Amino acid sequence: MRSYEMKRMHMGRLQSGVDLLNGLTDKVCEVGVRAGYVFALGTLRNAVIGFYDQDRKEYDSLFFDEPLEIVTCQGNISIKDEQVMLHLHISIGDEKGEMYGGHLMEGSEVAVVEFCIAEFSGDPLERNYDEEFKLDLWLPIG
Ligand code: ZN
Repeated sequence: MRSYEMKRMHMGRLQSGVDLLNGLTDKVCEVGVRAGYVFALGTLRNAVIGFYDQDRKEYDSLFFDEPLEIVTCQGNISIKDEQVMLHLHISIGDEKGEMYGGHLMEGSEVAVVEFCIAEFSGDPLERNYDEEFKLDLWLPIG
C-alpha cells in the first residue's frame, strides 16, 4: 500500500462527442496529474464496457447503442510505460432504469459529462504486465 496526501481537485465538463475514456485521460494529462482518482457522471450516446473473463484472461466487450445515464464512473490514475493510464469502471442506466456495469472501454461517446479529478501528491503507482492475469497491474507493495 502507498499513502498519499490530497493535493487539489479539478472539475469540469467534457466536450460532447468525445470518447469518455480518452477525454478523461486527456483532461488528466492537461492538468499534469500522475497520481489520483477520477469521478464522472452525466449521459452517453452509447457505451462499451468490458467484462474480464478470468479463465480466458481477456476482456469481452458489451455494446450499448442507446442513450444512457452514467450512474457513476470512477477509477484511478497511474503510470504505464511513462504514460498516464486511467483504470475506470462505470455503471450505466437505460431509459427503464436498468443498470449494467463493468470496465470502461474505448468507444463510449459523451453527450454531457461532468468530471472531478482528485490530484494526489507523491510518486505515482506504476503498472507492469502481469503474466498470471495478462493485465497491466500494480505491483503488490508490502
Ligand atoms: Zn477494470
